[in-house]
Amino acid sequence: MKKLHLCAAVLLSLAVPTLQAATPGDSVLLIHGGAGVVRSEMTPADEVAVRAVLELALRKGHEQLAAGKPALDAVTAAITVLEDDPHFNAGKGAVFTHDGRNELDSSLMDGATLKAGAVAGVHTVKNPVLLARAVMEKSEHVMMVGDGAEIFAKEQGIEQVDPAYFRTEKRWQQLQQALKEEAAGQAHADLETAKHFGTVGAVALDRQGHLAAGTSTGGMTNKRYGRVGDSPIIGAGTYANADCAVSGTGWGEFYIRAAAAHDICARMAYLKETPQQAGEAVINQIIPKLGGDGGAIVLGADGSLATPFNTEGMYRGWIGSDGVPHVALYSDEKLPSHPPAGAKP
Ligand code: ASP
Repeated sequence: MKKLHLCAAVLLSLAVPTLQAATPGDSVLLIHGGAGVVRSEMTPADEVAVRAVLELALRKGHEQLAAGKPALDAVTAAITVLEDDPHFNAGKGAVFTHDGRNELDSSLMDGATLKAGAVAGVHTVKNPVLLARAVMEKSEHVMMVGDGAEIFAKEQGIEQVDPAYFRTEKRWQQLQQALKEEAAGQAHADLETAKHFGTVGAVALDRQGHLAAGTSTGGMTNKRYGRVGDSPIIGAGTYANADCAVSGTGWGEFYIRAAAAHDICARMAYLKETPQQAGEAVINQIIPKLGGDGGAIVLGADGSLATPFNTEGMYRGWIGSDGVPHVALYSDEKLPSHPPAGAKP
């Protein structure tokens, strides 16, 4: 009897194609590093460094897709690179809260299963996106916050660091500036520091045709008492389903109120809008009308993508099946479209 089972298992494993051998489709990974690009503050050295790390994140994510791995792996790999780089407001280099701490938020969503994981207000987890993924895969929950999330990180063996790891002098000075502007009674819309959206995010389409999305952030400079923005809120800063994947960056309170990421996907589903049309409507009409600003990356199941934003620039880039990364920073820089015009999606 045992022998029979073994034979059946061997035959079955021969009959079932491996992941690698599944009919390969086109893959694409689209990333952002925040819509808070202030051109006058960029040194040539910063510019070179930011372009290089965006390309690295794209290549690391692409390695996963090229190996036939799921979109979720590409999203996780790309975000991990961006979290480790101090130029972005996520992981190392995160912005400071009002009382001088770093509190990190992240979320992930798998479009194939609609499973999601999120964490908020963590302060020792080196890569919050890995903890969000553990919440999704290793717990019965979708979201964990604060001390509970830290305990879960320890249980799961997720790397933890001294909170001082996240500190950079630039972010500390931004907090000092924000405190000064606040003391002078400036309104939020006039605050220089409010413009530093540096959240990171990624959306991917794998060779099996599945989508995923993820976002990671330090939130907003000078945020108060357990403030949580849109990035870890499924439907606000992150959303993915079978047809659409979105990651946002910007003034989080408005993204939450607009249910921005979900609204973009809903417009694509119900109004049959393209990623470009749905992204433009939410990012350039609905959110500014409420008083907010920022950007988003949007990817459709046919590989068409959009990167709408209403600020001076958004760190952004994509990589397709050919493994060639395309990166842009400013609003007057064009990214090539994907799939290329005239190509069969
Ligand atoms: N959306 C983030 C937040 O409000 C900030 C950002 O995009 O940089 O927490």
